[in-house]
Amino acid sequence: MKNYKSDFLIIGSGIAGLSLALRLEKFGSVFIITKRGILDTNTTEAQGGIACVCQKNDSFEKHIKDTRISGAGLCKKDVVKLVVEQAPARLEELKNWGVKFDADIGLEGGHSERRVLHSGDHTGKVIAEALVNRVKKKKNIKIFEDFIAVNLIKLDGKCCGAYILNKNKGVVETFLAGVTILATGGAGKVWLYTSNPDVATGDGIAMAYRAGCKVANLEFMQFHPTCLYHPEAKSFLISEALRGEGAVLVDSKGTRFMKKYHPLSELAPRDIVARAIDSELKKSGDDCVFLDISFKPSGFIKKRFPMIYKKCLTFGIDITKKRIPVVPAAHYICGGVLTDIYGRTNVPQLYAVGEVACTGFHGANRLASNSLLEGLVFSYQASQKIKKGQVLFSKKVEPWKIGRATHPDEAIVISHNWDEIRRLMWNYVGIVRSNKRLERALVRIKNLKKEINQYYWDFIINQDLIELRNIATVSELIIKCAICRRESRGLHYNIDEPKKLPKPKDTVL
Ligand SMILES: Cc1cc2nc3c(=O)[nH]c(=O)nc-3n(C[C@H](O)[C@H](O)[C@H](O)COP(=O)(O)OP(=O)(O)OC[C@H]3O[C@@H](n4cnc5c(N)ncnc54)[C@H](O)[C@@H]3O)c2cc1C
Repeated sequence: MKNYKSDFLIIGSGIAGLSLALRLEKFGSVFIITKRGILDTNTTEAQGGIACVCQKNDSFEKHIKDTRISGAGLCKKDVVKLVVEQAPARLEELKNWGVKFDADIGLEGGHSERRVLHSGDHTGKVIAEALVNRVKKKKNIKIFEDFIAVNLIKLDGKCCGAYILNKNKGVVETFLAGVTILATGGAGKVWLYTSNPDVATGDGIAMAYRAGCKVANLEFMQFHPTCLYHPEAKSFLISEALRGEGAVLVDSKGTRFMKKYHPLSELAPRDIVARAIDSELKKSGDDCVFLDISFKPSGFIKKRFPMIYKKCLTFGIDITKKRIPVVPAAHYICGGVLTDIYGRTNVPQLYAVGEVACTGFHGANRLASNSLLEGLVFSYQASQKIKKGQVLFSKKVEPWKIGRATHPDEAIVISHNWDEIRRLMWNYVGIVRSNKRLERALVRIKNLKKEINQYYWDFIINQDLIELRNIATVSELIIKCAICRRESRGLHYNIDEPKKLPKPKDTVL
């Protein structure tokens, strides 16, 4: 088993991890760990774009106001100001790194002005590829694909690296670093239906919690209102930008329903649209509702939404002629590892940036296209403090021990528990919650965790088991946060606690 050493260890290769690597390589050696291919990230899947004030009639004040309205009283005012005001500089940097945006500026739900910079409807891919190209040219950056972090290593109360499973060799190796940065993204896979790719299993949140970090506001999971509903489509998102361009939501009879729920209709904040769809589906018993943009000129649709047009066509849906069947799905986790404005966690030498972190920017509900921006701004913020890594001696750090663990004999246990947790979270801790369902979910997840932990210690670990253990931990933390919040606010809606309390408060575990 090998021991690796670097000044900076970045776990995750999305916008947060890659942009931070580019900033840190000037100060020391950077290792990027990523559990699948470098482009297997939420970042690559992002469609809509990045929010940034860039038109004459817009202003920082308006972007701040929109972000705070969406955040339902929980955004940290100084953090929102910091992110919004830094956006133009960070976007300029992104352009210098090779990212090209379209000339037209997009509009999305909850934004009072057009301020979403985009590259067609595949902005994330364009950004990810540009960052990867640049990162690959840097001598000081080394990329480890198919390496999955298992646990963080702490010595004298400080983080000094991580135990990482080398998936090709099937062994856990020790990575020591002066500074460790979690850039592990979100946790959509905790729920049965999600827009997130397979990597989003909340590993960073679980590892940080095990290492003694505070986590916060995990009850605020954003369910995207419109994911493609098709038996063969695995987590494909139909971007908010369609509604920004006039697409309407209709039920199976073709009747629009959003006017009943909000004066902004289809452009209401995401939580309201998702709950409206959930309520319509519960009333009608239908499997899905429909998004209709077919009344727009076909040339416009194909040019503005080339990827969505092509993808839907592969499932036999020509969106220039037909309505798109859609359902809500888990999309973005607003809470995460608690950090300050420099991405520092409460464990020395451990940082968290991007979706894994809870900075106070999104509050109780993220405004569309604000998350890529948060990842960029906080990688910059973190780089202002990190600068110097100091590699500790490996002597004191114990190598990973497998003890008497053997190879798992029944893979069915793992796949069964995966399914059970995701179904439990969807049914009991979904878009609309109740006290009884949350209490039941807590009892069940505790039992499942016991079983999974036993399995974890008895058998040699693999990716499925590592991720299962993490989704169990993150589910328990989400349920606990949801139980702590005795009100309905932003994305957390509990039928037994429908009122918003006068004083907004973070949930910190
Ligand atoms: C379909 C979709 C559309 C979206 N559209 C938009 C949009 O238009 N605008 C916007 O602002 N936001 C959008 N978002 C949200 C946005 O894409 C994400 O919040 C953002 O990309 C997160 O970036 P990140 O760098 O924090 O994490 P990610 O990009 O998710 O990267 C996480 C990385 O961590 C790695 N990782 C995780 N655990 C481990 C482990 N244990 N060991 C090793 N590696 C690990 C993963 O493999 C991955 O490389 C969208 C999200 C989705 C899913």
